[in-house]
Amino acid sequence: MGYEMTIGLETHVELSTKTKIFCSCTTEFGGDPNTHCCPVCIGLPGSLPKLNRAVVEYAVKAGLATNCEIGYTSKMDRKNYVYPDLSKAYQISQLDYPLCKNGHMTLSDGQTIRLNRIHIEEDAGKLVHSGNDTNVDYNRGGVPLIEIVTEPDFHSAQQVREYLENLRLIMKTLDVSDCKMQEGSMRCDVNISIRRTGDKKLGTRTEIKNMNSLSFISKAIESEYNRQVDALECGEQIIQETRRFNESTGETESMRGKEDSNDYRYFGDPDLPIVYISPEEVEQLRASMPELPDQKQVRYMREYGLSDGDSMQIIRYTKLALYYEKMVDVSGAPKLAANLLITQLFRVLEDEEAKENASLPIPAEYIGEVLKLVNEGKISNNFIKKILDEMLEKQKPFAELFKISDFSMADESETESFVDAAIAESAAAVQDYLAGKEKAIFAIIGKVMKASKGKADAKTVEEMIIKKIKN
Ligand code: ADP
Ligand code: ZN
Ligand code: MG
Repeated sequence: MGYEMTIGLETHVELSTKTKIFCSCTTEFGGDPNTHCCPVCIGLPGSLPKLNRAVVEYAVKAGLATNCEIGYTSKMDRKNYVYPDLSKAYQISQLDYPLCKNGHMTLSDGQTIRLNRIHIEEDAGKLVHSGNDTNVDYNRGGVPLIEIVTEPDFHSAQQVREYLENLRLIMKTLDVSDCKMQEGSMRCDVNISIRRTGDKKLGTRTEIKNMNSLSFISKAIESEYNRQVDALECGEQIIQETRRFNESTGETESMRGKEDSNDYRYFGDPDLPIVYISPEEVEQLRASMPELPDQKQVRYMREYGLSDGDSMQIIRYTKLALYYEKMVDVSGAPKLAANLLITQLFRVLEDEEAKENASLPIPAEYIGEVLKLVNEGKISNNFIKKILDEMLEKQKPFAELFKISDFSMADESETESFVDAAIAESAAAVQDYLAGKEKAIFAIIGKVMKASKGKADAKTVEEMIIKKIKN
């Protein structure tokens, strides 16, 4: 009997506002422990929080970019719990009137993921364990977060990954967060249940807390799915609980029973007024938003004639996409530029970080100039790699390194004399070709390319050879 897996995600994204959500302490990552704190963000009695306007603006942008309705009136609530990372014993969050709700994102396989809500809240401090000691660092306490909650609409680890990658790209494009998973500025609670194929009712879920790596998320989903299937197959029941992923065993383990929202005794925060944002302000924010990834992809396909696969590969990296657009502006050759980026520059930009930062030693204009010459037929396509490698090494523009004539293409009569010479010394290959071994022609083309030092155009050469030996 088969099982279907169902997943819902709660994703926390740290906003990159300069200051914290209710005070003017810096949000900068790191720093000596407890140096980015004040009476407000550690919640000393008598201190009063004041909502940072930028937090609302950032969160509204995040909501607009994920097709949410914006709540013009929303409210801050206290979520009560006792844990040393939270000295007030409550977190200020939003329960019944979140800032954004009812959004959605459509994945490449057609599945629509509904977003239940996006609300704003404060982050807690961090416990630092060393030996038998545990210390607490409140620098992160009061850093603004948005929590993005989906409906249980995912059915595979692959869908979860795509959603998180899209979400990260959207947040980075909006510049509301850097979404660095390894620094914890994007982290995810993964809720998983299984049910027998065909069942209507969802199974009991478990929640894997605080995941901050895409590959661990995939592993955790897989192992939790297997665990739940094994349990049901043995006639056991799934207990609703909070689990953690153990990175060394690759398995999930129980942390504690799951609390209900009742346990938190939410109530409206009496220190903070209702949050209003007018429809006009929302429209102003909408107008101020940059081009979003899916809009950009449509444009790359329509204006530049790229395939959806190629355009996606470029759009994934915001800065690299800008670099690409500059190459296009200078060269007027979008397809050549995309091809060069994907085949040559991706080779130079070895890891994800290098791609993210478009860390290339030469400006896009240098490459654009070369592509322009190729596009105009002034130099041969065959030399692009050689020219590029030299420019990357010397960090100089084409004009300072080469002359156009070094790479000009052989004209018709030059090409013809190379072809005639190659045919004359390839009797065996000619025989083979005429006998039906079509691949034999490559040996002759190779000779021409070698003799012409790459200046002949391979396609023209091939046509010329066929014409000559068939006559
Ligand atoms: P709670 O109020 O207990 O936090 P929510 O209804 O807010 O629960 O759901 C939390 C997350 O769990 C949401 O992302 C939701 O999609 C997901 N979820 C709820 N039920 C299931 C289920 N049966 N299987 C998988 N995910 C679920
Ligand atoms: Zn503070
Ligand atoms: Mg919840």
